[in-house]
Amino acid sequence: MTERIERHHYDVVVIGAGGAGLRAAIEARLAGKKTAIISKSLFGKAHTVMAEGGAAAAMGNVNSNDNWMVHFRDTMRGGKFLNNFRMAELHAKESPDRIWELETYGALFDRTKDGKISQRNFGGHEYPRLAHVGDRTGLELIRTLQQKIVSLQQEDKREFGDYEARIRVFDETTITELIMDGDQIAGAFGYYRESGAFVLFETSAVVLATGGVGKSYKVTSNSWEYTGDGHALALRAGANLINMEFLQFHPTGMVWPPSVKGILVTESVRGDGGVLKNTEGKRFMFEYVPDVFRKMYAETEEEADRWYTDPDNNRRPPELLPRDEVARAINSEVKAGRGTKAGGVYLDVSTRMPAETIRKRLPSMYHQFKELADVDITKQPMEVGPTCHYVMGGVEVEPDSGHATGTVRGLFAAGEVSGGMHGSNRLGGNSLSDLLVFGKRAGEHAAAYSAQLTARPKVDQAAVDAAAGAALAPLSRPDGENPYHLQHELQEIMGNLVGIIRREGELTDAIAKLAELRKQVANVGAPAGRRYNPGWHLALDLRNMLVVSECTAKAALERRESRGGHTREDAPAMDPTWRTVNLICSLDADQVALTHKPVPTMRPELIGLFDRVELGKYLTEDELSSFDALAG
Ligand code: FAD
Repeated sequence: MTERIERHHYDVVVIGAGGAGLRAAIEARLAGKKTAIISKSLFGKAHTVMAEGGAAAAMGNVNSNDNWMVHFRDTMRGGKFLNNFRMAELHAKESPDRIWELETYGALFDRTKDGKISQRNFGGHEYPRLAHVGDRTGLELIRTLQQKIVSLQQEDKREFGDYEARIRVFDETTITELIMDGDQIAGAFGYYRESGAFVLFETSAVVLATGGVGKSYKVTSNSWEYTGDGHALALRAGANLINMEFLQFHPTGMVWPPSVKGILVTESVRGDGGVLKNTEGKRFMFEYVPDVFRKMYAETEEEADRWYTDPDNNRRPPELLPRDEVARAINSEVKAGRGTKAGGVYLDVSTRMPAETIRKRLPSMYHQFKELADVDITKQPMEVGPTCHYVMGGVEVEPDSGHATGTVRGLFAAGEVSGGMHGSNRLGGNSLSDLLVFGKRAGEHAAAYSAQLTARPKVDQAAVDAAAGAALAPLSRPDGENPYHLQHELQEIMGNLVGIIRREGELTDAIAKLAELRKQVANVGAPAGRRYNPGWHLALDLRNMLVVSECTAKAALERRESRGGHTREDAPAMDPTWRTVNLICSLDADQVALTHKPVPTMRPELIGLFDRVELGKYLTEDELSSFDALAG
C-alpha cells in the first residue's frame, strides 16, 4: 500500500453525530479529552433531527403522579420484561435531568400554561411524558447539542487560539474499520466521501453512535445512513450484539404515493387524539387489546374519548397501545381485506380537532401530507401502514458505562446502535431520552478509560493496509456484482421473509438466501473512481448490512415465541421461559454465531414495583416462587 494516509490523534473518537454521538462527545470534551466526532452524513443531518414526537422523561409537569418508577414500569412493560432492567432504571431516573440540561444549553421546549416544560401523551406511557417542540423535537435537540459544541470550540479558541484544539467534527466521513492492538481499540479507519481519500484516527477509545439498520428493509422510515455500520464494526472488533430479532415496525408510515412509502407519521397524531379506522369506517383497535394490557385500556369509544379531557377517571384509548400491538393490528386488518388499495388503514385527525389546532400541534405532518401526497389532514384522513423504524437489538453493553461486552477493550456504544435498554419493544419517546442518558454516560466512561491507560495502544500498519485493501476491493472489480441490485435483493429477503410476521420455513429460506447473497457481496464491484462515488459507498455498506441481517434472521429463527418486535405465526404466544433468554450474536472467524445468555434478575426493590398478578403474565413459575419468597 503506497498511498499516504492522513492521520489524526485523539483521546476519544465518537463515530456518529446524532444525539447519542454529540452528547457523548460533549461529555468526553468536558472531561478534558481531545475528542473527534465523525459523521457519514453532513453535520446536523442524522436520524435524531427527524424525531418528531418528543423525548420521554418523567418530570411530572402535566400529571404530578408521574415519577421515575412509573416510567420504569411502563418501559419494562413495553419491552415485555426483556429489557436490561438496570438500563431501564438509569434511563427512567436520569432522563428528567438530561432534558433540563438541554435547556441550560439553550433548548426551548413547548410550555404548559404555568410555564413548565409541556409533556404529551404517547403509546404505552401512563402519563403525558414527552417533552417536545411541536412535532420537530429532534431538530431542537440537535440544534442545541451543536450549539453547545460550538460554545466549547469558542472556549478552546480563547484558551488555545484554535477552535478545534479539543473537539473537531469530521463530517461526510465514513468509518469502515476499527483498528485493533490485540483486544484493545487502537484506531478507526475510513474515507472522506467527497474525495475518496483515506483517513486514520489513532485513539484508545471509540464510542459507536451510528444509529440503526433500517435500510436493509424496503419500507422504512430510516434514511440511507442506517446500514448497521456500528453493529458490524463492533462484531468485527470482537463485541457482541444482543437480541437482534427485535425490530420495531412503526404502525404508521405513509403508504401512498409509492415514492414516499415508509416515511413516518408521528405517533403524536394518535397521542393528540387521532383515531385508526378500517375501510368499513370501524375504529378497530378495540378488538386488539391483548390480555396483558386489558385492564389499562378503554373498552368503548365513549370512554376512550373522555380520557383526553379526564385521564384520571377513564382508561386510555387503544390507539395508544405500544407500537408492536398497533402495527400487528393494522397488518391483520389489511390482511382481512379491510385495508385500502395501497395496503393501509385510515388515521383521522380531521374530525377530532379544529384545523388551526392541527396546524399548530402537528405542523410537520400537515406539510408532509400536503406536499408529498396532496392530502389536507385538516380535512381528510391519512392513509397509513407499518414501516420498519427502529432496532431494539444492538451492541451489548455494560449498563452503567456503555462499554461493549465481548473480547474488546476501549469500545463503547450509545443510542440506537446499542441494545438491551428497550427489551423486545421500544416505547415512543424513549429513544431521544435514551441517547441523552447513555450518550452522556458513554462519553464520560470513554474519557475515563482513555485517562487510566498507561500506554497508548499501537496501530499496526498491516491492519491499516488490510483496511485500505478491503475498501479498495470493489473498485478493482468494475464488472463485479451491482451494489444496487444486491441491496434490492437484501431488502426483498428481509422484507418478505424476516418482516413483521415470521414463520419457521421462511426464516430458514431467508438464512439460505443470505448465505448465497454473501457470495455475491464478496464479488461486489463499483465503477472506478474514488471521488464522490455512491456506488462504491454502497458496496462498502453492503458488507455491514449483510452480517447484521444474518444476525437478525438467525435470532428470529431461534426465538420460538412472539414478543414485542418479533412475531412468529408458528409460535404466537409469549413464552415465560424465553423471557429468561437473551440471544447473543458474535463472529466466529467471519461466520455469525448465536448463543443463549441468561437475562439478569431484577433487583428485589425493582420487582417490588410490580404487582404479583402482572408479574404472573411474564415470569416463569420458578421466578414467581422466588418473588413470593422475597415478598415473604
Ligand atoms: P442517529 O441520530 O441516526 O445518528 C447516527 C449517526 O451515525 C449519523 O451522524 C450518521 O451519519 C453516523 N454514521 C453511521 N454510520 C457511520 C459510519 N460508518 N461512519 C461515520 N458515521 C456514521 N425517537 C424518539 O424518542 N422520539 C421521537 O419522536 C422519534 N421520532 C422519530 C422519527 C423518525 C422519522 C425516525 C426515523 C426516528 C424517530 N425516533 C424517535 C427514533 C430516534 O430518532 C432515533 O432512534 C435516534 O435519533 C437515534 O439517534 P442516534 O444518535 O443513536 O443515531
